[in-house]
Amino acid sequence: MANTGHLVIAGLRKGFADTQVLGGIDLQVDAGEFIALVGPSGCGKSTLLRIIAGLESADSGTLTLDGQDLTGLGTADRNIAMVFQSYALYPHLTAGQNMAVPLMMRRLSALARLPFVGAMVRGRAAVLSAIRAEVNQMAETLKIAHLLARKPGQMSGGQRQRVALGRAMVRRPALFLMDEPLSNLDANLRVHARGEIVEMHRRSGVPTLYVTHDQAEALSMADRVAVMIGGAVLQIAPPREIYDNPTHIEVARFIGQPQ
Ligand code: ADP
Ligand code: MG
Repeated sequence: MANTGHLVIAGLRKGFADTQVLGGIDLQVDAGEFIALVGPSGCGKSTLLRIIAGLESADSGTLTLDGQDLTGLGTADRNIAMVFQSYALYPHLTAGQNMAVPLMMRRLSALARLPFVGAMVRGRAAVLSAIRAEVNQMAETLKIAHLLARKPGQMSGGQRQRVALGRAMVRRPALFLMDEPLSNLDANLRVHARGEIVEMHRRSGVPTLYVTHDQAEALSMADRVAVMIGGAVLQIAPPREIYDNPTHIEVARFIGQPQ
């Protein structure tokens, strides 16, 4: 079955100690979509993303990706990439090597399970050259080919961030999760980077769930905006509609408040 990245979340609940954080989340991300998830600080956006990525488990509810139940699957088996606000690249490796790392980890560990040493050695050379080709191709697609030979210390913050996105995308995940990836950039760079992320999303076609507390960011980037307040997604609609027809007073208040 093709991985189109169709994510369906239903009735997802999560609490910590005596606090209910997610009180029954329903949310769908369709193939190719860019959804911005907004909501007040502390409403559980990061918790939801961590549960989708498999870094945290839900108390109840269902989570499927392309029809496959994600419950019980480890992070590595979910085919989901996540980018956080601090996107640590390996400082001693070039951008190209940084992008190759996730592919090498996955493929060389698969090779190590081969029963014959000869097959493993021959396989290794083939795997490495395939990885190089894939990194180059992704870098072309994302327009970061000119950065491949540079180490993180030789790049600007914005360039490092593009490489971090490239590293996440080169795995060709079925779904992309981003948790306020621009919040460490200064204001000028942030506006520029918005456009770049949307452009990268269009080129890669990977459906994306993008968390931000910045409404302007959400409204300018997303196909649909999901507004999460009080542990539930109250409305999910195109930006214009959220503005023109908020379905809940809480949504209207949140969207209307100055930032
Ligand atoms: P957001 O990303 O929307 O700002 P978070 O998902 O980080 O919100 O946090 C939602 C709530 O859950 C907060 O009140 C936070 O303190 C709490 N929380 C998050 N993770 C944990 C944890 N591991 N243990 C206890 N409480 C947590
Ligand atoms: Mg957060």
